Amino acid sequence: MIYVACGSCRGGGSFKCTNCGCGSCRGKGTAVAECDACAGSGWRECRACDGQCQVLTKKGWFKDKYGPCPSCGGRGTIKCDACKQGKVEKTCTFCRGTGARADCANCHGRGNIDCSSCQGRGQVAPNWSRERIMEEIAYRQSCIRNEQEALDYWYQEVEQKPYLYDQGFPGRGNEKAIVNLKEEINELRALLL
Ligand SMILES: [Zn+2]
Ligand SMILES: [Zn+2]
Ligand SMILES: [Zn+2]
Ligand SMILES: [Zn+2]
Ligand SMILES: [Zn+2]
Repeated sequence: MIYVACGSCRGGGSFKCTNCGCGSCRGKGTAVAECDACAGSGWRECRACDGQCQVLTKKGWFKDKYGPCPSCGGRGTIKCDACKQGKVEKTCTFCRGTGARADCANCHGRGNIDCSSCQGRGQVAPNWSRERIMEEIAYRQSCIRNEQEALDYWYQEVEQKPYLYDQGFPGRGNEKAIVNLKEEINELRALLL
C-alpha cells in the first residue's frame, strides 16, 4: 500500500454534516419514548402474587393463611426494569438514528459528507513526481530480486533437508513480501497513467 491517509479528513473519508439536524431528535439520533413493557407507567404487575398483593404463607386444615407478598411488599406492583420511570431511549424513527435531516441537500440524510480531497476513500496517492515514482518502482523491483534470492535458497534447503523444516516452509515471509511489493508496483504504475 503506497497510499497515505488523506490530510483533509485525517483518513476518515468524510465530515459530519453541519448543515442539518433531525428536527425530531435535534440531531441526537435517539428519542425518548413510552415503555412498552409497562405502558409508560414505570410500574408492572408483580409476578410473584399476580398483582394480588397477598401470597399463601401457610396451608391449614380449615383455613389457609395469607400474608403480604414479599416480592412487592404487598403493593401488587413492582418497578418496571425495562425503563426509567416509564421512559425508554429509542432510535429516532424520523432519521433512523442518523441524526440528520432526510431532505438535507448537503448529505441527503446520511449525516456526513464525503471528503472531496480523497473522494471519501480516506486515502490519497502520495504527491510524487514522475521521476520519484520511477525510482520507487525500481527500488521495489530490486527488493523483489533480493526476496526471490532468499526464497530460492529456502526452496533448496527444504528440498535437501526436509526433516529440519517440518514446522512449515521458512520462506513464507519472503513470498508475502514479494506479493506486497508487486501490488505496490501496480499501484505506482497506475499513478503514471
Ligand atoms: Zn479525505
Ligand atoms: Zn431524528
Ligand atoms: Zn417500563
Ligand atoms: Zn407481589
Ligand atoms: Zn446534512
